[in-house]
Amino acid sequence: MLTAIGDVMRRVYERGWITTRDGNISMRKRDGKYLYITPSGWRKTIVHPEHVVRLEVVTDPGTGCLVPKVRDGQQPSGELWMHWNLQQNTKRTRTVVHVHATHIVAAMYAGIDLQAMSAEFPEISRYTRVGRTVPVLPALSRDLADVTAECLGLGKDGALEFDIVGQANHGVCAVAMDPWGAYEHIERLDHICEIVLKSGVVSRSSGQVPSSGKS
Ligand SMILES: [Zn+2]
Repeated sequence: MLTAIGDVMRRVYERGWITTRDGNISMRKRDGKYLYITPSGWRKTIVHPEHVVRLEVVTDPGTGCLVPKVRDGQQPSGELWMHWNLQQNTKRTRTVVHVHATHIVAAMYAGIDLQAMSAEFPEISRYTRVGRTVPVLPALSRDLADVTAECLGLGKDGALEFDIVGQANHGVCAVAMDPWGAYEHIERLDHICEIVLKSGVVSRSSGQVPSSGKS
């Protein structure tokens, strides 16, 4: 599955969902001793299994919580906390993918409520559960990490209510067992956003403040 991380990175780059150094993917096996995550700053088009950063999961002596330990010389993605929030208590193999999917970001910018829109299209509502949009928050921030987990409906047992959320003026975060599963959630939502944007009916809930501008 580590190979799939690089393969998905190349595909999302080809689709224009990231520029060369953007985007990040993490993977953790069920009760896994390690968190695997893409490197920071590395060109994502040349990620291969040997470039994926392997962080040991250890118990923090201060808090008693499990944390990924970053050793000297390791350079995990700057969005490590967004990934770890979602990986910490997972009971099964889980992959988290964060990219800047063009049509989804455009739809949020145009004020489209992704949840309401998804409900209108069976292509997505049957297979992909879309959560509430994360408001505008600084990239790499702890706030972005925490609110992303909240919008994905993260429970204390590590279960998630949703498969994907948009992050206003930024990107998306999608979760599945494997990298291609998460990719499919993004692809479905991006496709519907593209259709809706092309229809020209950008804001059915006329008069509403774009959801991307609200907290
Ligand atoms: Zn990003």
